[in-house]
Amino acid sequence: MTNTHAQWQKLADEFQPETRLLIGDSLYDSADGARFESINPATGDVVASIASATADDVERAAVLAESRFREGVWSRMPLRERMNILYRFADLIEENGDTFILLDTIEMGKPVSEMQSTDLPGAVLTFRFLAEAIDKVGGSTPNTNDGFHHYIVRQPLGVVGCITPWNYPLMMAAWKVAPALAAGNSVVLKPAEDSSLSSILLGQLFLVAGGPPGVFNVVPGTGQVAGQALARSQHIHKVSFTGSTGVGRLMYKYAADSNLKKVSAELGGKSPQIILKDVGDMERCATAVVDGIFGNQGEVCAAGSRILVANEVYEEFREAFVAASTKKYAPGDPLDPATTMGPLVNKAHQTRVRGYIDGAVGEGAKIVLGGDVDHQFDNSCYVSPTLFADVSPDMTIAREEIFGPVGALIRHEGIEQALSIANDSEFGLAAGIWTQNITNAHSLARDLQCGMVWINGYMNGDMTQPWGGWKQSGQGRDKCIDSLLENMQSKSVWVTL
Ligand code: NAD
Repeated sequence: MTNTHAQWQKLADEFQPETRLLIGDSLYDSADGARFESINPATGDVVASIASATADDVERAAVLAESRFREGVWSRMPLRERMNILYRFADLIEENGDTFILLDTIEMGKPVSEMQSTDLPGAVLTFRFLAEAIDKVGGSTPNTNDGFHHYIVRQPLGVVGCITPWNYPLMMAAWKVAPALAAGNSVVLKPAEDSSLSSILLGQLFLVAGGPPGVFNVVPGTGQVAGQALARSQHIHKVSFTGSTGVGRLMYKYAADSNLKKVSAELGGKSPQIILKDVGDMERCATAVVDGIFGNQGEVCAAGSRILVANEVYEEFREAFVAASTKKYAPGDPLDPATTMGPLVNKAHQTRVRGYIDGAVGEGAKIVLGGDVDHQFDNSCYVSPTLFADVSPDMTIAREEIFGPVGALIRHEGIEQALSIANDSEFGLAAGIWTQNITNAHSLARDLQCGMVWINGYMNGDMTQPWGGWKQSGQGRDKCIDSLLENMQSKSVWVTL
C-alpha cells in the first residue's frame, strides 16, 4: 500500500540520510572536510550537508577499484555468483523503495508518483535485466584458414567511472552502474550535486547484497573537482557520462588529456513531435504530447519540446493540448501522491528556464498556456506548464534545450517540411510521429536523424530498448544488451594448429 501525503511528509521530517563518501566498505568525510548543501526545491529547506570529494578522494577510490579488479574478486567471480549478488541487490533496492522515493523527491523535486511509476521500477528492472544477461552474451569463433583456430572473447574494461545527472537520480545511476558491474568491471560513481543521496544508499546496499568491498564506490562532490578528477584518472578505463552536451564535450577532452579512456556520453536533446494532418484520435495524441513535454517537469533529455503541427489541424491540436494539460498538470507538493508536477531542480535552473520564456516573448512567440512561476509556493522553484504558439524554427526556444516545462508549437505544411525542420538541429535524441498513414510513418522513421522514434505514442519502452542519441545528443547506448557490450572489450586469440 502506498503512503499518504501526511506519511510521506512524516518520513521526510524524520529521515536522516547518509551523507559521506563510500570507498571500500567504509564511509568517509572528504579529505579536506568540505561539504555542500542539498536544498529541497519545493521548500527551499536544506535537506542535507553532503561530503564533497576532493581529487585525492576520487583517486583513492579509483586506485582501490582498480586493485579489486586486478585481484578478480568481482571480475573473475563465477558468473552465477555475480548474477545472484546483482539479483539480491535489485531485491534490496525494491525493499528500500520508499527511502529511494523519498530521497530523490526531496532532493530534486520529482513527484513521488513519478518515482513510483517510473524511476524505482526502472532501476530495479535495470539490475535484474542485466544480471540475467551476464551469461547470455559471449564471443565468437569465426571460420578461418586451415591450420588455425581463432576465437574472440569479451572481457571487462577495468574500472568504469560513472557520472550522472540529477533528473532521474536513481534510474540514471542504475543505467550506468548495472551494465558496468554486470560486465565484471569495478565502478566509481559520481552523482550530480543536486541529487547525491540515493547514490550513496545504492552503494551501501551493494555491500549488503554481498558485493565485494571496493568494487562499487560512491564519491559525491562537484563536477568541477570530483567529476573532473574521475574523468582524468589514469585508473579509470571508461567514463560513462549522462548530462549536458557542454559537459559531455569535456569528457572527450579529459580522456584525450589522460589515458584515452573509452567515453560514452548520453547528452541533451531538442526532440520533435511531428503531427501530420491525418493524426487520428486528437485527444489521445494531445495527451501523449503533453506528457512528453510536461512529465518530470520537462526535465527529460528526450522531452518532445518542438511540436511540429500540420497547418490543417494546428488550431484543433492547440486546443486539445491546452485541455489535456489543464486536466493533468498543475504544480503541487511533490510529497503529495496526487501531484503530477513538482518544482524545477533549483533556483538557478528556474531562473534559466524563466529566461527562455522571457526571451521567447521578446522574439515574438505567443504564450497560450502558463508562462510564469507558480506563486502559491514560497521559496520554491516552480515554473507553470507553458506552451508557446507561433514559434518559428529559428527562435531560440526552438533550437536550445530548455530542460523545463516549455513546449513550442511550430506550424508545418506537410511531411517534407516537417522532416526538414525536425532534422535541422544539432541534437538527435528522439522523435515522435503522429499519423494514420503507415507509409508516411515508416518513411519518416527511416529519415529522422535520431536514436529513438515513437510512432503514435511517446516515451514507450522497456529494457530491450537501446537508449541514446545521434549527433550532439551523444554516443553510446544505455539499457539492453548494447549497454552490457559497451562495458566490455573484445580480444582476438589465434591458435596455430
Ligand atoms: P550537467 O552536464 O550539468 O551535469 C552532469 C554531471 O556532470 C553531474 O554529475 C555534474 O556534477 C558533472 N559535471 C559538471 N561539470 C563537470 C566537469 N567540468 N567535469 C566533470 N563532471 C562535471 O547536466 P545536468 O544538469 O546534471 O543534467 C541535465 C542534462 O542531462 C540535460 O542536458 C539532459 O538532456 C541530459 N540528460 C541526458 C540523458 C540521455 O540519456 N541522453 C538522460 C538524462 C539527462
